[in-house]
Amino acid sequence: MARYTGPNCKMCRREGCKLYLKGERCTNGKCAFDHRSTAPGQHGAARKKVSEYGKHLREKQKARRIYGVLENQFRSYYEKAVKMQGIAGANLLTILETRLDNAVYRMGMAESRKDARQLVLHAHFTLNGKKVNIPSLLVKPGDVIAVRETSKESEKIKGLAEALNSKVAPKWLERDAQNLTAKVVALPARDDIDFEINEQLIVELYSK
Ligand code: SF4
Repeated sequence: MARYTGPNCKMCRREGCKLYLKGERCTNGKCAFDHRSTAPGQHGAARKKVSEYGKHLREKQKARRIYGVLENQFRSYYEKAVKMQGIAGANLLTILETRLDNAVYRMGMAESRKDARQLVLHAHFTLNGKKVNIPSLLVKPGDVIAVRETSKESEKIKGLAEALNSKVAPKWLERDAQNLTAKVVALPARDDIDFEINEQLIVELYSK
């Protein structure tokens, strides 16, 4: 399945909530959803009764869009989560949260998850000292993410570094704002997730 390349804000209107896909724009009063929150399309404003299946589907789509993951990969994360010890829904969120692009975003070195994906693809980071350019890599406790020395000269990275202290890193990441590094000190817990999601609905959707 191809990656969605249409307008990000349309996805927020489709899901009926802010997905925070555009960085600063999502919080500076220019958010399209704040001005028009109806679903996209000619009949978007009409009230529709959502079926049980629809509720489950929308919750899955919401999580998928927030993390920028394609359907096949999302399903493979679910299958992995089911095989892990513990609660499948919580495991799924842990897997999504430990993606390298998400970790870069959560350490504060990107304006959005989509931005983080681009920065990782352009190899601006190292993982445990080695250059990486795979956004879907999963980080684990003990791993160290760092901005590459050569990338520290980039205007984009300089801007992000300057704003770093205004962003709070989650407790599973130990950030060194001076050296632009973050060490993974634990696996993300359920209460580390920074948006509203009912992961149980996703599990029920896939297990039907
Ligand atoms: Fe969603 Fe951000 Fe667009 Fe608002 S500005 S609709 S939160 S992507």
